Amino acid sequence: MLAVPHILVGGAIGKQIERPYVALPVAFASHYVLDAIPHVDTISAFGFGLLKTSALTLADLFVGFAVLALLISRQKRAIWMFLGALAAMAVDGCVVLSLSLPFPHGIPGVSAICYLHRIAGRSLPNSQWVIGLGTQVLVVAAAILILRKRTASDSRVE
Ligand SMILES: [Zn+2]
Repeated sequence: MLAVPHILVGGAIGKQIERPYVALPVAFASHYVLDAIPHVDTISAFGFGLLKTSALTLADLFVGFAVLALLISRQKRAIWMFLGALAAMAVDGCVVLSLSLPFPHGIPGVSAICYLHRIAGRSLPNSQWVIGLGTQVLVVAAAILILRKRTASDSRVE
């Protein structure tokens, strides 16, 4: 999936699960679950390592973290939501590093993370972009609803 749904779902997990030692691994695992939902993304649509792909990926990351920041900035547990978003993006970060640099495959776990990412992914061809983007719109909408939900601890901050 694009970065935006991963970031917002990771943030929502950081909000919903109060114990960080549970929330962060769940956010990390959420990456595989979301990638198993049929989708289109910049790498599957345009290929890896191209200028167009890199520019769109940077824009995707910027939008995801900007929207997350707007949604969580006044919330008490914002740091855990932010860390949840980072955990949710860690898989793609690992994959991109392993494709870009020669050494990451020597780091324990990197090959397993990349292998799981390869078998979990359900990228659709560009011709099915309506379905491939539609699934992500639904995921983003659900995550925004969770991130906007006020909790009892939020009201104590203001
Ligand atoms: Zn991915």
